[in-house]
Amino acid sequence: MAFWGNKQEGENPQPGEQAPAQFTGSLEEGYSELVKAKGRAPGIDLAIKLSDLILEHAVQERASDVHIESQGANLRVRFRVDGILQDMLSSPKNADIPLTQRIRVLAGFDPEPPTSFRNEEGRFQKMLAGRAIQVRVSSFPTVNGEKLVLRVLDRQQLGLDLDQIGLDQDALTLIKKLIRNPYGIFFITGSTGSGKTTSLYAMLKNINTPMINIITLEDPVEYRLEGINQAQISAKTGFTWTEGLRTILRQDPDVIMVGEIRDFDTAEISLRSALTGHLLFTTIHTINSASIIERLFEMGVPPFLIGSSMLGAMSQRLVRKVCPKCSQSAAPPSEPVVNEFVKNMDPEEGKIVKELILKPGAAYKVEKGCPECRNTGYMGRVGIFELMLMNEEIRKHILDHAPTDVIKRTAIKTGKMRTLLMDGILKARTGTTTLSEIIRVTATMV
Ligand SMILES: [Zn+2]
Repeated sequence: MAFWGNKQEGENPQPGEQAPAQFTGSLEEGYSELVKAKGRAPGIDLAIKLSDLILEHAVQERASDVHIESQGANLRVRFRVDGILQDMLSSPKNADIPLTQRIRVLAGFDPEPPTSFRNEEGRFQKMLAGRAIQVRVSSFPTVNGEKLVLRVLDRQQLGLDLDQIGLDQDALTLIKKLIRNPYGIFFITGSTGSGKTTSLYAMLKNINTPMINIITLEDPVEYRLEGINQAQISAKTGFTWTEGLRTILRQDPDVIMVGEIRDFDTAEISLRSALTGHLLFTTIHTINSASIIERLFEMGVPPFLIGSSMLGAMSQRLVRKVCPKCSQSAAPPSEPVVNEFVKNMDPEEGKIVKELILKPGAAYKVEKGCPECRNTGYMGRVGIFELMLMNEEIRKHILDHAPTDVIKRTAIKTGKMRTLLMDGILKARTGTTTLSEIIRVTATMV
């Protein structure tokens, strides 16, 4: 990342290698208040207050996860905000304030951790600032003591409309048309926490009318969608992906959403039902859109089945938006720097990337840091997308069992596919995010 020599000032730490932000934050203050009240109130009351305080701060800071760590004599609380962990509290542990016990009880666990290991997962709901906050809790026995991770479910994020997830106008028009096909299968891919579920839900909401029967199979159901029949996978009761799919097909469906395809059976039933008059949306775990095809080959799905049922695929990531309060304008990187960056790419792809970065008229920004963004330089996130639509050329390559790079090259050339990197550069050009953030997020794919 350091080669993006366009950073104007040296004082800005790069994302990921930041010195811990200095929080004079009120969570620390709140904690010391509670410690002072010790002896004057029962410990459990203080623990209830402390857990509420932590959750209130988590919601206020838009944290997706709260880590509560016992490290020997220390209590450490960290929040994941916009995908990055931040220290919120680090203090001597206080045996008189049984915080972990309180959270364990909320999650439905026994107050004390089990003496022999057992997997503990629970959830609870809490009203905070007039909103029902869903929290999923996981416990992990470290050698230093118990570690609790609280996933704060952001129902607002999951309820976004299709035009709110960050797709530009062209991609939005294409997707709206694509999801109105009477049959076929559309894949979404992306790492954990890349907003795949948000996109799937947004698509279902977009086509939902009383005239069609939409059924989903999910693990877990994260958000209730009105007018849509959602079902939860349960290995315990035998309601597996394949059983679920077979059952759905007897429920007269028009549209089926399958949370994830991870084996041959699920893939085969899904692709076959896409051929017989159903529209399917699903996710699959790969690094980009083109490699979905190779993943299906690996599972043993025959090429003709992929070629005839697949409508297209979308890959996505979330990038942090640069803080509007403190970001600064930046010059584009120099040509030699860009040449160095694209030198290992496929030549045609590299040429497009280079032109995109250097084309005049960009409003590049660099991050700085201010109290508003807790010195990270970023605030909030937005999706970047790679939309691959099926066409005759790609279909031909699928039937030939072609490798991912050939499929990708063909999609760029004949389908005008914009890769994640290209879409990210466009968002950096408008000053929504920075080039260094785009490189950070897409680095493993270039
Ligand atoms: Zn800022």
